[in-house]
Amino acid sequence: MSHRLQRALVQFLCIAFAFAFFSASMQAQQTPAGFSTEEQIKADLQSVPCKNEDRLNAVRSLFEKMGAGASEISVDKHKNVENLVITKPGSSPERIIIGAHYDKVSSGCGAIDNWTGIVAMAHIYKTLKPVSLKKSLLFVAFGKEESGLIGSGAMAGKITKDQVNAYCAMVNIDSLGLGAPQVADNMSSKKLLDAAAALAKSMNMPFGHASISGADSDSSSFIAKKIPALTIHGMTNEWPVILHSHKDQPSKINSTSVYLGYGLALALVYSIDKASCDAYR
Ligand SMILES: [Zn+2]
Repeated sequence: MSHRLQRALVQFLCIAFAFAFFSASMQAQQTPAGFSTEEQIKADLQSVPCKNEDRLNAVRSLFEKMGAGASEISVDKHKNVENLVITKPGSSPERIIIGAHYDKVSSGCGAIDNWTGIVAMAHIYKTLKPVSLKKSLLFVAFGKEESGLIGSGAMAGKITKDQVNAYCAMVNIDSLGLGAPQVADNMSSKKLLDAAAALAKSMNMPFGHASISGADSDSSSFIAKKIPALTIHGMTNEWPVILHSHKDQPSKINSTSVYLGYGLALALVYSIDKASCDAYR
């Protein structure tokens, strides 16, 4: 399954980006410059730090590896939580947040939940870094999601009423790595869900969406502020056995699932940049 899907994904993204320099590598049937390969993503998945206290620094190192300079990286310190923020300036005051939480529960390694989201987000940064975009991109690694969306709540709480309209959308990635990319209905704005579904269809990518009862993630902190947001995950029906347990280990990660989640979120961010800022409200 994976090879055909990867080719479709690459072809779609090439069309979407329409960069002349991609065409040569397309003809050679290779992954174009700028796009991460599944192998690259797999390598970064395997380097997951399994201790909570090591994770913030590991996220910083990963973004540095993806090309982020010290001046682009900041730690947002709130009363009881730290978020790592990497800013890619755009040509307008409009903003898109791409988020994934870096913390984990005490048991297990937090590989699926949520080192997969961190790695996908970092590779989206790497791919879009050389691309001129209209909107500024804020890549945010949230702390203490597992304690009740504390990092995202702190960030959302500081956005004033006057600033809300400049936040066009928030794309959250939480727990890829088991199956096809999906959107969690109960944590997502309908218009963004529809946009993700349409993109997946055009890429011939498997896709699903459903409510996940009893679960929540950082997109909800922004929906509460009336900022359009969605959560992309890659869970299957076996998620309650693996997540938040000793079974959440690197060996459980299907790297194709993470690769497809990277591709879907990347295409979505790119298309949000092309749309007007109020398109998803
Ligand atoms: Zn999570």
